[in-house]
Amino acid sequence: MAVVDALRNAATLSPQEALERERQSFAILRASPESAALRHLFFAERVAAKVDRSTGATDIKTVGVIGAGTMGRGIAMAFANAGLAVHLFDADPEALARGLDAIAATYGSAVNRGSLSAQTADQARSAIQPHSELPQLADCDLVVEAAFEDLAVKQSIFAALDAIMRPGAILASNTSYLDIDTIASATRRPEAVLGLHFFSPAQVMKLVEVVRGAATAPDVVQTAVALAKRLGKVPVVVGVCPGFVGNRMLGARNAELVDLLLAGASPMQVDAAFTAFGWAMGPFAMQDMAGLDISWRNRRAQGESLPVADDLCAAGRFGQKTGAGYYRYETGSRTPMPDPEVAALIGRIAAERGVVTRSISDREIIERTLYPMINEGFRILEEGIAARASDIDLVWVHGYGFPRALGGPLHWAHRQDLGAIVASLSAWHDETGKAIFQPAASLVALAQSTSNRETSS
Ligand code: NAD
Repeated sequence: MAVVDALRNAATLSPQEALERERQSFAILRASPESAALRHLFFAERVAAKVDRSTGATDIKTVGVIGAGTMGRGIAMAFANAGLAVHLFDADPEALARGLDAIAATYGSAVNRGSLSAQTADQARSAIQPHSELPQLADCDLVVEAAFEDLAVKQSIFAALDAIMRPGAILASNTSYLDIDTIASATRRPEAVLGLHFFSPAQVMKLVEVVRGAATAPDVVQTAVALAKRLGKVPVVVGVCPGFVGNRMLGARNAELVDLLLAGASPMQVDAAFTAFGWAMGPFAMQDMAGLDISWRNRRAQGESLPVADDLCAAGRFGQKTGAGYYRYETGSRTPMPDPEVAALIGRIAAERGVVTRSISDREIIERTLYPMINEGFRILEEGIAARASDIDLVWVHGYGFPRALGGPLHWAHRQDLGAIVASLSAWHDETGKAIFQPAASLVALAQSTSNRETSS
């Protein structure tokens, strides 16, 4: 709006007056929280990409990708778009064919939209060579494994890679949750193993969590960071723990989302509170778009359960693809409509569990989901899983769509009353006993020192 005003002023006022107004607008905008947030992210990206350069990065020319599913095909395109030669392998010939079709369709629609020339699309597409045997990847400089999320599958792939890859080749896993050190232990070269955690769709999303294992060599981390930058990504180096930085914090948030539904918030109220906060989409509309069935199958395979989500799937409600999930969808429409059947289902589960329902404010929805994430962020820093708070902000802005104008969860937290955040967490912890609410020691200490500073000034 300030730019529009400046243009109008340029046409209607004297040049001197228009420039003065423009200067005033600039001064107001520069002092805004949004400006501070965007500058924070600008510097955060530059600091995150700086790693120990004492050992030197290796030049990567040829990469292998294992698995042609959702992630493998996106990762293959991300490499091909950056001009690398890609060798794509899948153990299932039909999955390989499906992956190649999906890659062709993605490039086809980019050409139709006019975002890519036919020539560039052809070049990128032909840079991806399909393979039905793993040894055909033996000459690659780096391999990214994106097979099923199963430790035994990944360990057998890494043992096989160890046997065929040349010395010095880097072996990376795109695992979402699994222990990189356990995967590395299947090889005789743990120093060459690390995580490269891309986000879906991998050819689009900017974030790459570069997961440093206990034995990963510094030059391997440096090579991975340089490679991610070459792909136009935002690399963030993280340590090993279940879910690394992003999915670990997401877990803390998602656990609370279900309880909010059971306590009386509707999916629509939660989603509206999230969009009012600044997210492009609420978590339930997002899950309906992505499909509820994949995580349901994963949970069943792990012997885990999640109230409401499991019940929706058991009723055949997989989200937009089946016309119903947390919402219902008119035929051919993607607009979420509230569904009384879902309200009844949630009410029934709440009653079975003896949950007393109440009215929940939008503010409580944001605080009960954001504060546990922030708390987990402080624990991640205490454990050294992330090197700095700004790295955690990058993970959330570039991997999960946290509103850029708020600068990331920890930047946002630092602009709030930390004492009030600790007080809310403690009260919820006393009430529920949930570990996600137990305030992290470093958060409590920071809140204390901030309040001391404020008192003494
Ligand atoms: P997917 O099921 O879509 O694809 C997995 C592919 O791997 C399949 O085509 C399968 O045929 C192939 N495969 C299985 N075992 C194999 C083997 N031994 N050798 C070669 N190919 C094999 O799964 P996905 O969603 O692409 O996930 C792949 C990995 O990426 C998982 O570790 C997952 O946790 C991780 N991840 C997924 C997402 C996501 O949003 N889907 C995001 C980040 C990370």
